[in-house]
Amino acid sequence: MKLPTQKTKIVCTIGPASRSHTILKRMIQSGMSVARVNMAHGDLDTQKENIRRIRSAATRLNRPVSILMDLPGPKIRIGKLHNEGLILRKGSRLTLTTRDVPGTTSLLPVQYPDFPRSVYKRGIVYLNDGFIQLRVQDISDDDVICKVIVGGSLFSHKGLNLPKSKLAPDPVTEKDLELLSFGLEQRVDIFGLSFVEKAEDIVKVKEFAQKKGKSIRVVAKIERAEAVRNIDGILEVADAIMIARGDLGVQVPMQDVPMIQKKLIRKANLQGRPVITATQMLESMVDNVRPTRAEATDVANAILDGTDAVMLSEETAIGKYPVETVKTMSRIAVSVERQRGLIHLSSDVEEYFRRGDGRKRISVEDVVSLNVVDALRALRIRFVLIPTLGGSTPRRVSRFKPDCWVLAFCHSEAMCRFLTLSYGVLPVLLSEKVDNWHNQMLLYMRDSRLAKVGDKVVLAEGISIGQFDGADSMRIAAVN
Ligand code: ATP
Ligand code: MG
Repeated sequence: MKLPTQKTKIVCTIGPASRSHTILKRMIQSGMSVARVNMAHGDLDTQKENIRRIRSAATRLNRPVSILMDLPGPKIRIGKLHNEGLILRKGSRLTLTTRDVPGTTSLLPVQYPDFPRSVYKRGIVYLNDGFIQLRVQDISDDDVICKVIVGGSLFSHKGLNLPKSKLAPDPVTEKDLELLSFGLEQRVDIFGLSFVEKAEDIVKVKEFAQKKGKSIRVVAKIERAEAVRNIDGILEVADAIMIARGDLGVQVPMQDVPMIQKKLIRKANLQGRPVITATQMLESMVDNVRPTRAEATDVANAILDGTDAVMLSEETAIGKYPVETVKTMSRIAVSVERQRGLIHLSSDVEEYFRRGDGRKRISVEDVVSLNVVDALRALRIRFVLIPTLGGSTPRRVSRFKPDCWVLAFCHSEAMCRFLTLSYGVLPVLLSEKVDNWHNQMLLYMRDSRLAKVGDKVVLAEGISIGQFDGADSMRIAAVN
C-alpha cells in the first residue's frame, strides 16, 4: 500500500482534453481523487462513456476515485458555436438570439426563451464568468442587440450572467431532476447542485432521489449572495460545499470573494463538512505549461485557509496540459502541507473548540477529536485509525489538518468514495463483516506495510461503531 502524495484532495473536471484512458490514468496517478462531469457540457452518451472510463481507470489502478456529477441549475448559457474559440472584438456589434442558430461573431444563440424580457437597454450582459462584457443597445421579441465592451475568446455553452435580474425562481429545474435520474442510473457517487439558495433546495433533490429508493450525497455549490447568507442552514443538510468562485464573482462584488472563501471554509471546517475551492485555480495552465506565481499562491492560500479539496475546471476539461496541471497542484499542496505546522496561518478551527468560551457546549465527538490531535502531536504518531459508518469521526479529526494520515475504515464502497473529498483521509474498505475492528485495523497496518511492528498508532471511534466500550473513545496502541 502506497500513501497518496498529497493530503489535499484534487477534483478534476473531465472533458475532451482528459477523457482518454491514458490521460485519466495519468491524472489519477498524479493525484486526482475526484472526477467531475459537468452535465452542462457534452451529451449524455459522451458523459456516460466518460463515467465508464473513469471507473475503469480507477479500478485498473486500484485507487478510490469518486465521480461528482454537476447538475447545471438555472444557469443561462449560450448555445453551440459554429467554430470553437471564436474571438469577440471590442466595439463590434453582436446579436444575442433565442432562435436556434449556430453561433458566430455576429449572432449568438442563448438557451433561455425569456432572455429578451430579462434585459434592459444599456444593461450589461456578462459571458464566460464575466470575462466578456456586452452592453445592450436594442431589444426585440427574439433578439437582443449588443455592443462588445470587453472582448475575448468564446466556446460553446459558456455561461451568461445578468447580475441584476433574478434567475428562474427555482434553483432546481426539471432538467436537473432528469439529469439526476440519469446520474442515479449511472450510480454516481456525489451530485453537485448549482445556484443553491437555501437548505430546502438540497432537501428537494435528496427527497427526489429518496422516492426512487436512493440516498444521495449532495455538494452545494455556493455561487449566489443568498447562499452565502444562508450558509448555516445549507451546511446542516448538504454533505459538502463548493466555493464556486466563477459565478460567485459575478453575483457578488469580486473583491468580496476572498473573504467569503475564508469564511465559508471556516464554517465548513467547524461543521466537519468537506469543502472544495473551485475555479481559475491554475487557469493560465489551460495554455501554458507553468502557472503564474499568483495562481500557485492562490492554491497554497486555499489550502492554508483549510480547504479539503481544490478543483480544476478548464485546465483539465479543455486545457493543453491536464496531467501537468494536476502534478503542479499536487506539488504546491505537498509544499504547503509540509510546512503548515511551522506557521500558524491556518484557520483557527482548533482554537475555536479549545476556547469553548461557553458559547455553545462542545460535543463529545469534538472533545475526542481534540484529544486525538493532541496525542498525534505529543507522540509524533503518523496514523490515526478510525472505523466509520458515516465519515463524521475521520472528518472531525482531519479538519484540524494534523501532520498524519487519517485512515477511515469503511464497510461500504460508497462511504469510501465519499471520503475521497476529505483532506488527509485515506479510505480503506474492509469488505467482510468485522467482529473486532481494533484487531482488524492493526492487522491492516502491518499487512499493508504502512507501519512496522511496534509503531504507535491512535485508534479513535465515534459512538456508532460501539466496538471498544460503546462510547466515543480514543486509544493509543502499538502495531503487533
Ligand atoms: P460551471 O458554472 O458549472 O462551472 P462552466 O461552464 O464554467 O460551468 P466547467 O465545468 O467549469 O464549466 O468547465 C470549464 C469549461 O470546460 C466549460 O465552460 C467548457 O468550455 C469546458 N468543458 C467542461 N466539460 C466539458 C465537456 N464534457 N465537454 C466539452 N467541454 C467541456
Ligand atoms: Mg466553471
